[in-house]
Amino acid sequence: MQIINPATEAVIGEVTEDTQATVEEKYRSVKAGQRAWAGRTVEERLACMARFYEALETEKKVLAETLTSETGKPVQQSYNELNGARGRIRYFLDNTARWLAEEWVVTEGATREKIVYEPLGVVANISAWNYPYLVGVNVFIPALLGGNGVLYKPSEYATLTGLHIQRLLHRSGVPEDVFTVVTGKGAAGEWLLQLPLNGYFFTGSYRTGRLIAEKVASKLVPCQLELGGKDPLYVMDDIEDIDKVAAAALEGVVYNNGQSCCAVERIYVQESIYDAFVRAYTEQARKMVVGDPMNGGTDVGALTRPGQLEFLLGQISDAVEKGATLLAGGRPVDRKGYFIEPAVLVNVDHRMKLMTEESFGPVVGIQRVKDDAEAVALMGDTEYGLTAAVYSKSYERAERVMVQLNTGTVYWNCCDRVSASLPWSGRKHSGLGMTLSYQGIRAFVQPKAYHIRH
Ligand code: NAD
Repeated sequence: MQIINPATEAVIGEVTEDTQATVEEKYRSVKAGQRAWAGRTVEERLACMARFYEALETEKKVLAETLTSETGKPVQQSYNELNGARGRIRYFLDNTARWLAEEWVVTEGATREKIVYEPLGVVANISAWNYPYLVGVNVFIPALLGGNGVLYKPSEYATLTGLHIQRLLHRSGVPEDVFTVVTGKGAAGEWLLQLPLNGYFFTGSYRTGRLIAEKVASKLVPCQLELGGKDPLYVMDDIEDIDKVAAAALEGVVYNNGQSCCAVERIYVQESIYDAFVRAYTEQARKMVVGDPMNGGTDVGALTRPGQLEFLLGQISDAVEKGATLLAGGRPVDRKGYFIEPAVLVNVDHRMKLMTEESFGPVVGIQRVKDDAEAVALMGDTEYGLTAAVYSKSYERAERVMVQLNTGTVYWNCCDRVSASLPWSGRKHSGLGMTLSYQGIRAFVQPKAYHIRH
């Protein structure tokens, strides 16, 4: 399998894809290795993850540059991602022992009761390319800490990063027959679905997630899906600093070249400040530096997947044909690689794909709304339910809106943000199950109820 740099279209590596036979072989090996791993103490497993945590820091230059070379994200954002991943690992290092410890729930009387948390067994982690470290550590760190064996399939657009992760985990003391990378495209993922695994943990698109859920349903094992979004941001008329809110919204739209599951994908602004907001947003969007992602000053690098540029141009022309106005950007950049200028569209509505279908790029439509009720109706008019943001001076007013939103996460005066201490979950087509927080530690173990009669 060839690895292409999306910023130059050059081939930067070649890796051997797994076959069905090698995937089965890896499964047998991990199945055998998992028992000994589960027999180690949580402290021993934590010590391995602490070494991995250190390795991400000592090797950060090569890891960040590899990540940028295969995904096209600005290199500073690759460093940020590594740093963010370390923050999440730190959370797991500090909290896992507590949440995996056995719990005595009845300690008096003739029958004592306790809960013991056991590993699921061997699980698959089928992952996405947009934040391979962040979405990876959400799954494989707590899965390993819980005593599971992991077959990790990085996205075909983040394979070199997946191989770095494997190398560093092994060097940190995780045995080769406990964590193994499966390389390849969709077919390699499908072979994992055919194995008798004890859990499937997927990050990616709704289309693939639904297919996986259907295929593994009859196994009756946990299947968690972290899927896409069409996340709205609503600006109320009482905000104090329009430029600042516009800057925050723009960052939410364009960060990681717009390829974040919780990227801001549509903006609603109350009418009295609408014109001023659009002006501030557009002015700042025009200043974004689009170009070589290896350059520290670049704001927007290359889109990762080859077909994504045409996809975004298609959404923009669909919107324009239906009456939208393109105020800025939205054109391919005249150089090799998959680049688009951040696009700002107004006069948009929900007949347009731009406002309903996940874009996954630095493009956004800004729509005028009369009041909170109209904003709530439009924010909820989506098949997705990952995050939603409200900007207002008043928390009380924002909260009246936030309680009405059917999303796993709501934000007041912030957006495009994930915390290791909070559960990360999507509703509707944004997913099933959760990672992070104590719930994301418990997601990788199963409780056993002990009834102990003296
Ligand atoms: P994708 O669905 O195309 O691919 C995800 C993974 O599934 C890849 O490893 C791919 O090789 C594998 N795959 C593809 N077909 C398969 C099949 N038939 N059987 C088994 N595996 C298969 O998604 P992507 O393009 O890598 O990621 C982008 C999507 O991920 C976006 O929709 C984004 O919003 C979502 N995402 C969600 C979260 C979250 O936390 N909710 C985080 C990151 C990304």
